Amino acid sequence: MSGFATHRRRVLDEGLPARVRHTNLRSCLEHFAPYGFRATYHHLSWSARLPKDPGRDPGSLVRAVEELHLARQLWLADEAAYASRRRREKARGMRQPVDDGGWRGGRPGPGVLVRCPDPTRHPTAPLPVVVERVLRSSVPSDDARVPACRVCGAGSDTVEWHDGGYWVHQLCAGCGAGLAVGRAS
Ligand SMILES: [Zn+2]
Repeated sequence: MSGFATHRRRVLDEGLPARVRHTNLRSCLEHFAPYGFRATYHHLSWSARLPKDPGRDPGSLVRAVEELHLARQLWLADEAAYASRRRREKARGMRQPVDDGGWRGGRPGPGVLVRCPDPTRHPTAPLPVVVERVLRSSVPSDDARVPACRVCGAGSDTVEWHDGGYWVHQLCAGCGAGLAVGRAS
């Protein structure tokens, strides 16, 4: 499987047909999609004004992949800082990472920072702005029924969203971030 950088290069390659560049944009999202694949794609379609037929505005593909790329750079820097911190901790005999309230404690999945289960509901600010906020966020693991939103902060209202299957999600009413999930009754 080729990596994000290869797919990004193909999105930026004006010599390729727009539909190939578009396929490569979607491949980029398999490596990094801060809200999850569908919600991140929905966000980029909106922010980069991606037409149904990308051939009508190939520049939108460039805008989309570059917004994603900038956000990913922030995430990679954070990953590198975390890896070196863990190396130091292990050298001091700390086998398990400490839950410091950071976004990793939410275990959202590889390349995902704050999952938005409803693909049409997600933060509207540019991805790098939201990613920076999530990377710096701290949510204490307390007994609250739903944890605070890493994008909007504490005290956000929630709305329920049924995924059509077994699950009911508690979404942040402010931005759509998934805060808790339970079985539908
Ligand atoms: Zn929120």
